[in-house]
Amino acid sequence: MLNWNDIAYNFSVDFNATINIVRFCYRENVSKLALLGGDKVRKTKFPLYTPIGKEEFEEIKEVFRSNIFSRFLGCWHEDFFGGPQVGSLEKEWAEFFGVEHAVAVNSATSALYCAVGAIGTEPFDEIIVSPYTMCASATAPLVYNAIPVFADVKENYFCLDVSFIEKKITDRTKAIIVVDIFGQLYNAGAINALARKHNLKIIEDCAQAPYARYEDRFTGTLGDIGIFSLNYHKHIHCGEGGILVTNDSALANKLRLIRNHAEAVMEAKGETDLVNMVGFNYRMTEMEVAIARCQLKKIPKLVEERRKNIRYLEEELAKIPCLTMPKVRDGAEHVYYAHALKFDERTAGIHRNKFVEAMKAELMPMELRETEEIKVSSGYVKPLYLQPMFQRQIAYGSKGFPWSASGRKYDYSRGSCPVAEDLHFNFLITHEYMRPGMTKSDLDDIVAAFVKVLEHIDEIR
Ligand SMILES: *Cc1c(COP(=O)(O)O)cnc(C)c1O
Repeated sequence: MLNWNDIAYNFSVDFNATINIVRFCYRENVSKLALLGGDKVRKTKFPLYTPIGKEEFEEIKEVFRSNIFSRFLGCWHEDFFGGPQVGSLEKEWAEFFGVEHAVAVNSATSALYCAVGAIGTEPFDEIIVSPYTMCASATAPLVYNAIPVFADVKENYFCLDVSFIEKKITDRTKAIIVVDIFGQLYNAGAINALARKHNLKIIEDCAQAPYARYEDRFTGTLGDIGIFSLNYHKHIHCGEGGILVTNDSALANKLRLIRNHAEAVMEAKGETDLVNMVGFNYRMTEMEVAIARCQLKKIPKLVEERRKNIRYLEEELAKIPCLTMPKVRDGAEHVYYAHALKFDERTAGIHRNKFVEAMKAELMPMELRETEEIKVSSGYVKPLYLQPMFQRQIAYGSKGFPWSASGRKYDYSRGSCPVAEDLHFNFLITHEYMRPGMTKSDLDDIVAAFVKVLEHIDEIR
């Protein structure tokens, strides 16, 4: 029997040859869509994505030898800043990204909470957020009883759009949480200028975009505070973790206080500013930090591999008429946390959901990620304001706090951010099959799945 995977791999430099071989093989062997009971394009799992290896293991052994698993003390003492690993990571991270201060915490979610507290958010302040992001970037304001106000995203970039932000600014607006979604940088030039004009802080959520660059500056350093994630879905990870960066010493001080029981520390430390000084325990362990230090060194190579895989995929996918490749902002470098494609149902003649369903049937999950299913999705997350918490406007208790006490009305109805909704419900396809570890032959299978579904599109119309 023909192994068309090998053939497609060998001929993949020439798209037409690939198409012809794909056509030929389907006729001979796999003439039916997997969705309709035919053979899958891909029958084995895709390779495991694990950036963690023996270097990390060596570092972990050092932590075991030292017997220091954490050294944080929640009082004013030299150990208020944590153990030796924490100190080293913060120094190395700040140097690497060219920023004054780095603060290690136990997740990017914690980091977002710290950031919203550190900028001095008052109850019922408004913070402008994107609806098209991981939920924590929009729920962070609620932790300080502030109100998340959603602005729409820009169509081909998926990040907050400056003109939509401007329409949402009121006398209560305190900050904008911008998200470098899918690895695409936010529109830093225009949004920073708008923020300066209105005296707003910018918190940059770069959980999906470490090592992305805008001109000569890295993500995280473009606004007032930048936030990175080290959870296991991200470019680099240590299981769970998060890092904040800032060039502002006063903000860095607040972040460290909020991370580690501020209220118990401030008197002895001589802090007189009581604003948002309820502290948490957002401390990272020495073991996680030891892994994170190794991971930091690997980031340039891991990002380059993603870019290389995307270039290879796009060489073929860009030729498919009903797909639009993601744009990369002028002056910016994308780091491809996800590959976000726009699907044109008019050209294809079928709805995106049907297309994605057929794609999923052709592919397989990644090793160790079987429970996450096939990593091709219709859209990303449902626009956040459509979640029950926003629909019913209840965050704390049962009486609608903080919205009910704000004295203003907030509209989270369907249609509020039409671009995000349209992308999510109709046009966007995201996939993650560009992770390091994918071989050329693996990537060819992704292309072949797209081609096969399109070839057979009449059968699912
Ligand atoms: C993953 C992610 C977060 C949260 O990261 P955790 O470290 O899991 O808390 C926040 N924002 C965005 C955009 C993310 O992708």
